Amino acid sequence: MMTERTASRIAENYDRFRQEVGTACARSGRVASDVKLVAVTKYAELAWVRALAALGVVDLGESRPQQLCERSEQLAGPQLVRWHLIGHLQRNKVRRVLPAVTLIHSVDSLRLIERIDAMSQELGLRPRVLLEVNLAGETAKHGFSAEALRAAWEQILDYQAVQVEGLMTMAPKVDRPDEARSVFRRLRELRDALADRAHGDVPLAELSMGMSGDFATAIEEGATLVRIGSRLFEGLPHGGDGV
Ligand SMILES: *Cc1c(COP(=O)(O)O)cnc(C)c1O
Repeated sequence: MMTERTASRIAENYDRFRQEVGTACARSGRVASDVKLVAVTKYAELAWVRALAALGVVDLGESRPQQLCERSEQLAGPQLVRWHLIGHLQRNKVRRVLPAVTLIHSVDSLRLIERIDAMSQELGLRPRVLLEVNLAGETAKHGFSAEALRAAWEQILDYQAVQVEGLMTMAPKVDRPDEARSVFRRLRELRDALADRAHGDVPLAELSMGMSGDFATAIEEGATLVRIGSRLFEGLPHGGDGV
C-alpha cells in the first residue's frame, strides 16, 4: 500500500511544478496548455507512477525500452496512460517498443529511423517520432549533430510510415539554467530551418526540451514537451511503500 503521505507529497510537487510552468509561460507570452508534461518515471516506484496518473498525469516517459514495455503492461487497464520513449533505442528492440509508445523522442540515427520505418510498414503503424539532436557536441550523448541532420533531411522526409513531429535535445549539465538557454534556442532555430524545407506537410511542431533543472528556460525558448523526473518525486523515500 502506498501511504497517504506519499500521494500528497507527489500532489504537492506536481502543483508547485505547474505553478512554475505558469510563471515561465507568463514571462514569455505563452499559454500553459501549449506545454505538455512528460513525467519521467525511470527512477520512480510503480506506486508513485500510479499516484501521478490519479492526478491526471498520463504522459509518462521511460529511458529504457525494456522498462517501458514492462511498465506499459503493469499499468494496462481502464486508466489511460501514454508512454514516451526518451532514451536510446537499439534497433533490435524496435519491434517490441513500437506498439507500446505514443511518441519516440530519441530517434538518434538514420539507421534507426530506417529500421523504424521498415518495421512500421510491416506492422501497419504510423509512429510519431522526434529526432534527437546533440547540440553541445558531447561525445557521451546520442543524437544527430545539427550538420548531420541538415544533410540527411531530404532523405528523412522520404520515409513513408514514420511521422517526424519535431526535435528533442538535452542541455549539458550546468550550474545555472541560463547556460542551457543557447542550446534550447539553437534547437528552435534548427527546427525553424528544417520546417522551411519540408514542403508544408511536416510542421515539426514539437520541441522536447527541458528537464527538472532547466525547464523554465526551455519553456521561454519554445519547449512544447518538458521531460520531468526528479522534481515530481523529490522528498519521497525509496523502498518501504511497496507497489
Ligand atoms: C532522466 C531524464 C529526464 C528527466 O531528468 P530529471 O532531471 O530527473 O527531470 C529527461 N530526459 C531524459 C532524456 C532523461 O533521461
